[in-house]
Amino acid sequence: MNTRNTFFGHPIGLRTLFLTEMWERMSYYGMRGIMVLFMIAGVSGENPGLTFSEAEANAIYGTYIGLVYFMVVPGGWIADNILGYQKTVLIGAIIITLGHFTLAIPLEQTFFVGLLFIIVGTGLLKGNISTIVGKLYDGNDSMRDSGYTIFYMSINIGSVLGFLICGYLGERIGWHWGFGAAGIGMAFGVLQFILYRNLLNGAGDLPSESDPMKIKKSIIYLCVACGFLLLLAALAIIEGVTINPVTFAESYAYFLVIIAGLYFIYLFLLAGLTASEKKNLVLLFFLFIGAAAFWSGFDQSGGSLTIFAKNFTNLSVSGFSIPISWMNLANPIFVVLFAPIFAGIWTNLAIRNLDPSLPMKFAIGLLLMALSFVLMLFAVDAAMTNQTVGIQWLLITYLLHTWGELALSPIGLSAFSRYAPKKYAGQMFGLWFMASAIGGVLAGLLGGEASGEGLESMTPIFSFMIKYYLVIAVLLAALAFDVNPAKEES
Ligand code: GLN
Repeated sequence: MNTRNTFFGHPIGLRTLFLTEMWERMSYYGMRGIMVLFMIAGVSGENPGLTFSEAEANAIYGTYIGLVYFMVVPGGWIADNILGYQKTVLIGAIIITLGHFTLAIPLEQTFFVGLLFIIVGTGLLKGNISTIVGKLYDGNDSMRDSGYTIFYMSINIGSVLGFLICGYLGERIGWHWGFGAAGIGMAFGVLQFILYRNLLNGAGDLPSESDPMKIKKSIIYLCVACGFLLLLAALAIIEGVTINPVTFAESYAYFLVIIAGLYFIYLFLLAGLTASEKKNLVLLFFLFIGAAAFWSGFDQSGGSLTIFAKNFTNLSVSGFSIPISWMNLANPIFVVLFAPIFAGIWTNLAIRNLDPSLPMKFAIGLLLMALSFVLMLFAVDAAMTNQTVGIQWLLITYLLHTWGELALSPIGLSAFSRYAPKKYAGQMFGLWFMASAIGGVLAGLLGGEASGEGLESMTPIFSFMIKYYLVIAVLLAALAFDVNPAKEES
């Protein structure tokens, strides 16, 4: 392979995807880092916000994450059946850019419209760009896994940029400057994708569906679904429906759990799977539960833990007062530092035949998550006595989150692509992101309960979370001896 036309030894198209994802995550995490702070800020003062209560802001934040990741499912369907992956990613990227620029308009009313654009755009982009990464490699290319590792780096480099730039501008100059910076970042992503899309060499250019009749039918389904949603929205506006964010988040959490549950049941009973595919499906089901529980703790970063940083952490270091959202930088920086170490550990253990099974790795991830909240209990205690605590508490908490993420997230992604029933491979990717969606909404609901009454409400909620991580971790560890992935049929 001509090295001038490669990207770290990989097909050069990976560079296009790397940069697009990097800018997309810059905008996503940059905005997410300040959204709760913006929602709870008062109307008076130099940097006015939306005066939501902590519980409401957390519920909106959780619902937003839940919608973003849920939309990956229809986004994948549109790429599969109508537009192809490249076009869907491009349209998604443009809609996300519009979303951030809408948030940049300093008007209260535009906030939810902006979020809606980002939700739809990310749904179109996020899963499909990961699918194109896979399509850069032929068949069982062993390079694919390392391609995904490089891609995971782009996610984290992007979030470092986002927290740094949008966090600083949003908190120090004005919220809408932060949102605008996210829009400019995403615009770079769009430009870059348009200029270098040809380097993808046609990977993911066409939809999987090639029958024009079926494509036409899919377009009709899509139009009917959009029409129905618009009608609902119009009715809600005409009726002047006001939505309670917490109740909405609760109902949405039930909705997601029911949809995911029904989908698993359908696959198990009605999809005509072979015995070994069913065995794999059971494994994926338990991993799904583990992942949803994990993200419900992980996503506290932008919610209750951001509020802990704001109210109970002494953020001044050598005379410089760190923007609150910068505490979030810890996770992506730790990911970049520790990802190679984790990959090395797994490879080393595998050489000795000691590589933990998939459920065991998930159990480890959940134990680390539990441990991080044990630490937070001590931090809350210390803050009760001293009013504020040093930044080391949150830094170590995020270090544990990162180790958990590295034990669970990259491995889960590849497990869902590898052990999915063949016919349903594309949709299983969406299912993996549904676990993130459920985790996100739960994070918002729990985070709202935790920060509703200041420090007093944190202890019971964090203790409850530790218990459920432990229960699920033990369940997964017990399964680890029983349910091992059935051999792949090649
Ligand atoms: N940090 C990863 C990303 O942004 C995974 C997030 C998730 O699945 N909840 O892509």
